[in-house]
Amino acid sequence: MSIAENLRQIEQQIEDATHKAGRAVNSVTLLAVSKAQKINKIEEAFKAGQKLFGESYLSEAIPKIASLKEYPIEWHFIGPIQSNKTKEIASHFAWVQSVDRIKIARRLSEQRPENLGALNITAQINMFDESTKQGASITEIYDLLDFINQQPNLNLKGLMSIPPKQSSEAAQKQQFHKLQELFHRIKSTYSGVDTLSMGMSGDMISAIEEGSTMVRVGTALFGARPENWKQQLKGNS
Ligand SMILES: *Cc1c(COP(=O)(O)O)cnc(C)c1O
Repeated sequence: MSIAENLRQIEQQIEDATHKAGRAVNSVTLLAVSKAQKINKIEEAFKAGQKLFGESYLSEAIPKIASLKEYPIEWHFIGPIQSNKTKEIASHFAWVQSVDRIKIARRLSEQRPENLGALNITAQINMFDESTKQGASITEIYDLLDFINQQPNLNLKGLMSIPPKQSSEAAQKQQFHKLQELFHRIKSTYSGVDTLSMGMSGDMISAIEEGSTMVRVGTALFGARPENWKQQLKGNS
């Protein structure tokens, strides 16, 4: 299938899951994850109506953003953040979803160019305590959210999470449900919070049924990433 056809199918799946969960129409946004995908595929998705794109590696993202600058794309940074990369991230993206520590939040706010307005932020939570994954722990998350909320050039939007892969729907939902509970607590504390970014190609339906407001979909839209794409990027991320 073409990317346009994949996009229609994913949009339909989102609509069906939203309806099934008894949630409002258009309460779930699709972020197209274009990491390791070629520029012409991004263009194809944009021309089919997709406006939000996510990238995980700065060295890959910067040239893509430059060559697509004629398109009004909203770029989201969703990858691990090294502190020496915050300036470029703050200058090229509308959202940063993977903020997991205060130091990074401070630098993003300080380095955000004034003319671009506040940078939208979701804090990444590592709720299930996986040592290999990025994200603030449940004991760190409240201080991090408080800090983000106080920064002049940051706009606190909510939470992002990548829970462990589960093959059964029940196990997926159990994890997403815990994230939803945390999201509701946070939403009642901070007035601007409206985003719970969770769910990818393999578990998007479960995430929507458990309250996701943004699903991040790569392979289901663009096809598989090249097998060795991580090696290719290594060392220059
Ligand atoms: C790669 C990636 C995705 C998309 O994963 P797919 O399984 O290709 O849909 C979503 N979120 C993050 C943070 C990613 O790095």
